[in-house]
Amino acid sequence: MKTAVHDRLKSLSRRRLARQACAFTALLAVCALCCIFASQRAGAQAASSTGQLRIYSIDVEGGQSTLLVAPSGESLLVDTGWPGNNGRDAERILDAMKDAGLKRIDHVLITHFHDDHVGGVPELVAHVEVGEFLDHGENREEATDTRNNYATYVKAIAGHQRRIVHPGDTIPIDGLSVVVLTADGEHIGAVPGIKPMPNSWCASEHAWPDDPTENSRSAGILVTFGKFKFLDLGDLTGKKEVALVCPNNPIGTVDLYLVTHHGMDWSNSRAIVDAVHPRVAIMNNGAHKAGKPAAWQIVHDSPGLIDLWQLHTAEDSDAAHNSPEWLIANPKGDGDGHALKVVALPDGSFSVTNTRTGVTKQYSRK
Ligand SMILES: [Zn+2]
Repeated sequence: MKTAVHDRLKSLSRRRLARQACAFTALLAVCALCCIFASQRAGAQAASSTGQLRIYSIDVEGGQSTLLVAPSGESLLVDTGWPGNNGRDAERILDAMKDAGLKRIDHVLITHFHDDHVGGVPELVAHVEVGEFLDHGENREEATDTRNNYATYVKAIAGHQRRIVHPGDTIPIDGLSVVVLTADGEHIGAVPGIKPMPNSWCASEHAWPDDPTENSRSAGILVTFGKFKFLDLGDLTGKKEVALVCPNNPIGTVDLYLVTHHGMDWSNSRAIVDAVHPRVAIMNNGAHKAGKPAAWQIVHDSPGLIDLWQLHTAEDSDAAHNSPEWLIANPKGDGDGHALKVVALPDGSFSVTNTRTGVTKQYSRK
């Protein structure tokens, strides 16, 4: 009897132990799953914080300097701002690099050889390691200043890799597609993956004069990151803009448009601005450079535009041709150097941050 009870107790205790072991094993399994899910979540978080294209529209007081940083960390700087000013523009590029965690710039594209674009190269190479320089080939403008800009550029990049780009070329950046649309006065007929469509805005476009300056030779690019598209045509002028998108538009529509030529009114024809149908535009004007009322109005009125951000208040214009102050990085004068920062995701959503105010506006995916 005693033995039977003892055996029963032993058996009960074995079953309880087995149940406890089961519970413990189940608990371990749950914990393990928790750990797996937690690490997957952490992984997804890490991926999403790095899975972004960042674009800095750096304030170089009416020139261009636009820094693009791919999710891989590979970088492209479009133009370098002005010469002189104690290296001001190189310093502002360095500020953007610091924000992006960059130690070097992999590719520098010089759109053309005017001093508000190429002028900052000597100061840049004095402070920053550059992988390669890209440009449209030799200067063709018959002006002493521009010839000097070109000679200074060639001297400054000696020892660096230099590549001449043509329409249809790509700039290889991990995670991005960067296609050269225009260069040296020529333009692309079709972008791989985009069907050129008849452009209804061409019929009402007026004739534009020939432009013998370097502006018309600007190297322009279309950047695609998943569903997000960014267009930067440097200082391309009206006649070449129209040639690019008429009668067929090879670009399609874009999310972000860098207002061509800082908002000069001999660029930004309706035929191109309306056809590319940007959701957001950034105008890299200076306090007293470009930001012309006619160009501002065309961009502002383009169908589908949500916001027109500006690097500066166009102080020679009027309140009716400037955006509200919260959309302006530097509302008064020059010298502050606040940038506009864009963060884009492959689903086509993106945000723009005014680094002066810290205010960020979100734009949903399409
Ligand atoms: Zn310019």
